[in-house]
Amino acid sequence: MNTPPAPPYSLAATLAGKRGLIVGIANEASIAAGCARAFVSAGAAIAATYLNEKSLPFVRSVTDPLGCKFLLPCDVRIPGQLEAAFARIEAEWGRLDFLLHAIAFAPKDDLHGRVVDCSAAGFGLAMDVSCHSFLSMAHLAEPLMKNGGSLLTVTFYGSERVVEHYNLMGPVKAALESVVRYTAAELGPKGIRANAISPGPIRTRAASGIDRFDELMAAAAAEAPEHHLVDIDDVGALAAFLVGDGARRITGTIIPVDGGQHLMA
Ligand code: NAD
Repeated sequence: MNTPPAPPYSLAATLAGKRGLIVGIANEASIAAGCARAFVSAGAAIAATYLNEKSLPFVRSVTDPLGCKFLLPCDVRIPGQLEAAFARIEAEWGRLDFLLHAIAFAPKDDLHGRVVDCSAAGFGLAMDVSCHSFLSMAHLAEPLMKNGGSLLTVTFYGSERVVEHYNLMGPVKAALESVVRYTAAELGPKGIRANAISPGPIRTRAASGIDRFDELMAAAAAEAPEHHLVDIDDVGALAAFLVGDGARRITGTIIPVDGGQHLMA
């Protein structure tokens, strides 16, 4: 096999022997793509999901060079698809060591309006895809994490502060962060950890659905003490640490990777 693409920093083989499932690669720009690169660079074997046939070539362009063991269809709105993905993991690997949940969705009309105006259906769908799916994955991963494991998701500081144009996703991410804490408490006795990474704004396909995202990025760069935006490799570095044994006592946390933007009033 050719040498897989590596992030612009070096990671020791801290994840050697570990097997992880990555949900949320849409293309090369996805946060999940940066995490996948970091996991493989640290020695992990990965499986990944793709949303639908249209997205498959873009997902493959990320996963093929990383020697991804298998690629599974998974739209969390389609009953049975997530279960089928985990059944395949069980059949192929018999166990799972870590899981990255990096997916979010909200209907455009609801996302672009005021939170007080959003429809019950739009709110429900956004919660279902972006938040409850983490619980579904935790539920399915639990029996496969026989030697303990690590569950990871991705949130945004719009959960705790009102960020203009983030709208409906604010309350959804607040719920996701709470879900991480309850999952950590409930699965802790089995050695299963749950954490969330909270990156600063990164230009991705999901981000392009947020109005005036360029302004959000400009504000983040202006506010962060080092005036740097973060990228998907910055998120990958933390993700690789969090799913490794070095983070074995870290659970239930929401960790910012935002160049320190969260410090600023
Ligand atoms: P992205 O568009 O690359 O990834 C979003 C993923 O969600 C895609 O892979 C898409 O296929 C998946 N998805 C949407 N609906 C789905 C469904 N029904 N079933 C299964 N998968 C579905 O964008 P991204 O920015 O990499 O997003 C990843 C995560 O990071 C999201 O939770 C997002 O809210 C979060 N996040 C992003 C930023 C940012 O600035 N980009 C900042 C903080 C948090």
